[in-house]
Amino acid sequence: MHFVEIEGRRYAQFERLRHVPGLLHAFSTRPMNVAPRDGAGAAERAAQRGMMVSDWGLDTGRLCYCEQVHETRLAFVDNSQPGGPLPGCDGAVTTRAGRPLMTFSADCPLVLIADPGRRVLGLMHASWRCTVALLARRVVELMVERCGCRAADLLAGIGPGAGPCCYEVQHDVYDAAADLPERERCFTRRDGRLYFDLWEANRRLLVWLGLQPQNVELAAECTMCRNDLFYSYRREGAGCGHFGLLAAWTDVGREGRALRRENLSLDEVG
Ligand SMILES: [Zn+2]
Repeated sequence: MHFVEIEGRRYAQFERLRHVPGLLHAFSTRPMNVAPRDGAGAAERAAQRGMMVSDWGLDTGRLCYCEQVHETRLAFVDNSQPGGPLPGCDGAVTTRAGRPLMTFSADCPLVLIADPGRRVLGLMHASWRCTVALLARRVVELMVERCGCRAADLLAGIGPGAGPCCYEVQHDVYDAAADLPERERCFTRRDGRLYFDLWEANRRLLVWLGLQPQNVELAAECTMCRNDLFYSYRREGAGCGHFGLLAAWTDVGREGRALRRENLSLDEVG
């Protein structure tokens, strides 16, 4: 991944998708904690979310973010919705400039899919339940059917998450994954334990849907191994923080401003 610092806050980006003209995207890193959970600290998390959106030159009031309930409901976000939560949604698609979308995670990969030519973007929360329910298929189908995208033109990035090194599951997860293309290649067995490769499952799913293999990039950052950078529910337990994935199409003026900011201080992380 590529790391960039803005106003002292460090963000991570996909190596390839960051070069798509007009597309802004970023993952927050620790200690930013941005999920819209109720309860203690909600106001502070909302403030951090707002800082992230404005760091990228976007309008906090126009931000729409997924509630995330581990199901397959999607929102199509145009200019009619107010900013705020997208209830019951684990994914969202937009074609509008200056309409930021966000998803959140503490171990689940977050996936960004973009059609650079038609300026369509989709975000999704690829938890194991969303992955085995083929949420990626619903996002791609929405982009194709509603926005005229062709799967072969889409670029995708699969973000940091609990990796195949660490993500042990029980057999109920394997059983629930019966619809995954090439299920056997998405699970490994070591020392009598079963591990689910969520990155590979989503990568194979996207390729099966018609994306070109070279157009699907993996962040390949395990949140359990890199708990210094990203929050991990498995490592830290209930009540841990969440990082976010922000994405938006920019209008020309905002893009210029954001790019100038990016060039101020690049900070590569080894
Ligand atoms: Zn790991």
